Order: sequence, then structure tokens, then C-alpha cells
Amino acid sequence: MNEEARDTVNFGEALVTPEEKTRRVGGVFTSVARSYDVMNDLMSGGMHRLWKDRFVARVKPRPSEAILDMAGGTGDIAFRMAAKGAKVTVSDINADMLAVGMEHAEKRRIDGLVWQRENAETLSFADASFDAYTIAFGIRNVTDVPAALREAHRVLRFGGRFFCLEFSTTEWPGFGQVYDKYGDALIPKIGKLVAKDEDSYRYLVESIRRFPKMSEFERMIAAAGFTQTRVEPILGGLVAIHSGWKI
Ligand code: SAM
Repeated sequence: MNEEARDTVNFGEALVTPEEKTRRVGGVFTSVARSYDVMNDLMSGGMHRLWKDRFVARVKPRPSEAILDMAGGTGDIAFRMAAKGAKVTVSDINADMLAVGMEHAEKRRIDGLVWQRENAETLSFADASFDAYTIAFGIRNVTDVPAALREAHRVLRFGGRFFCLEFSTTEWPGFGQVYDKYGDALIPKIGKLVAKDEDSYRYLVESIRRFPKMSEFERMIAAAGFTQTRVEPILGGLVAIHSGWKI
């Protein structure tokens, strides 16, 4: 591998430097922040709500436990966990996504959340600060995924648990091809119409396609130090819940 190839990462289908990927991902979420929630409903036919409910049911947040919701964006996961009494810190690299989340919290009168801008790869929290770490539809946007997983492990206390909800690759015969066609043909068009941003939604489709398969991502989680790793496929793996323990 030459120097140039080693120093590039994928931003969707394009090869860019790591710094450029982080910058471009920032641009994507700044551009879509205001339309993010309505776009999620449109693109998934409301199904993202069910996936998030299922995810939080697996996390089983307990009253007063400290949970870090990383790449928490507009707060969908954090609100569900706070409703169970957990003390949630919502962190995201993007101030515009967090701003929309804070507005939602105010409108819904949800108090007690901590909103803190953080890069998942280099967290400012002390070691062993949290009982659980969640990341939903965030990890595939992170430039250095192994670094983010190592940081997740570091900030969890012993006995802490890691949960990730992410798009993956469905193993149901035929469904993957149908989904690919839908993603290529429709999602950027919906993005153009509703969010006035076709390119950001093309990136989102491409980033889903490029993300490691379920088994490979499970190995990455184990490589970061987590044990008893598990994968729960949804719709054959179109979406997956990965989990692990810091023991
Ligand atoms: N978790 C929310 C949800 O499920 O609706 C938001 C998911 S949104 C698709 C992905 C989020 O990941 C964006 O808010 C983006 O800013 C954030 N993100 C991307 N790279 C990040 C990084 N390196 N550290 C923290 N957050 C990051």
C-alpha cells in the first residue's frame, strides 16, 4: 500500500484524508440538522422509531445510572433513556445537531440531560465515568472507528455495557437488492425535495453500504476490549444492534 492510499478514508464512495472526512461529515449534519427528524420518518416510513424503542429496551436503562449517548444528535435515544430515569449525557461532534436536540428537550419539557459537544474518537470524560454507552446511527460517520470504540471502553466502568444501533447488510435473499435500489433511486431525491440537499443524502446511502458487515463489526468491538459481544439483526441485518461488556 502506498503512502497516499494509507492516508485516505472513505467519505461515501470518495477517498479523502481523515481530516477532510471529519470536515465533510460535519457539513452533512449541519446541512440536515433542521430537517433530520422529519427525514428519518420519511425515509424509514416511521420504522426508525420502532428500532430505537427496541434498542433502548435492550439497553434497559435503570434509574440514576449514568449513560453516555454518543453521536446523540437531536436526542431521540437520550429522551427514551431519560424517560426511564437514567442520567443521560448527550454528546455529538456537531453543535447544530445538539442545538436542535436542546430545542426538542425544551419543547417537551425534558430536564436533566447534559448536552456536551465531543468527538467520539477523543472524549474528554475521565476513565470509568459511565454505566452504559450508546451510539445510534452514529458510528458509521466516525472517521476512526477503532479509536471511538477504544474510547467507549475507556469511559465505561467495569461491568459497564456498550450498545450500538447501526445500519448493516441484510442477509435476507433479494431484500438487499431491493433496498439498494430504493436507497440509490429514492433517498437522494427525498433529500432534495425535503432537506434541499441531495448530496448529503447520497453520502448517507453510500456510508451505509460501506460500513463493515455485522460479524466484522462485532470483531472490531471485541478488539477494543469488550467481552460477551452479541449481534441482534433486525430485518435480516438491514439494521443491527451490537453489544458488549467491559469486564
Ligand atoms: N443518534 C441520533 C439518532 O439516532 O437519531 C443521531 C444519529 S445521526 C445519523 C449521526 C450523528 O453522528 C450526527 O449527529 C453526527 O454529528 C454525529 N457524529 C459524526 N461523527 C461524530 C464523531 N466523530 N463524534 C461524535 N459524533 C459524531
